[in-house]
Amino acid sequence: MTLSIQDKAVLINAIRDIPDFPKPGIIFKDITTLLADKDAFKVLMNHLAERYSGYNLTHIAGIDARGFIFGAALAQMLGVGFVPIRKKGKLPYTTVSEKYSLEYGVDEVEIHIDAFSGVESPRVLLMDDLIATGGTAYAAANLINKVGAECVEACFVMGLDFLSGQSKLRDLVEVYTVIGVD
Ligand code: AMP
Repeated sequence: MTLSIQDKAVLINAIRDIPDFPKPGIIFKDITTLLADKDAFKVLMNHLAERYSGYNLTHIAGIDARGFIFGAALAQMLGVGFVPIRKKGKLPYTTVSEKYSLEYGVDEVEIHIDAFSGVESPRVLLMDDLIATGGTAYAAANLINKVGAECVEACFVMGLDFLSGQSKLRDLVEVYTVIGVD
């Protein structure tokens, strides 16, 4: 269930740091290198599949856009459905939306109103690549609850542990990060 030190190192080494992207002072955690490394991608996905196999999930909800990649792969491995949570204006059917604050201004995420319809007591795992301030994930977890499902945990490949995002999100939902970055 817990990742070995060796496997953790495989994942950490597969993620690339891009300094000053998208703006000065930000170290962008680039997961494209992990995706292109079949062994590292397999280590990650096998770990997640093992962790969540006993959770009785009905769906994985992935956050636009990198959460789609990990979320959809995990949904297939677990044999559950996948639901996208997208930036405003991208989903074609009737949506429910939630605003959240950014450093400057606000952003908005949406989910289809019927995302979990037809399933009794949906149990949903929220998935994204990284939690920074936690604002996006907080809004996404609220959306899952708003459309009548239970968000049982929020899972991230990486957590920026020097930011306070995780503790705020923990007020709403259990949080799991595969790798902590300090
Ligand atoms: P936040 O709402 O602040 O937790 O931001 C989370 C979203 O922004 C996630 O979808 C991440 O993919 C992205 N993000 C924020 N900071 C970084 C970073 N340093 N490197 C890569 N992605 C980031």
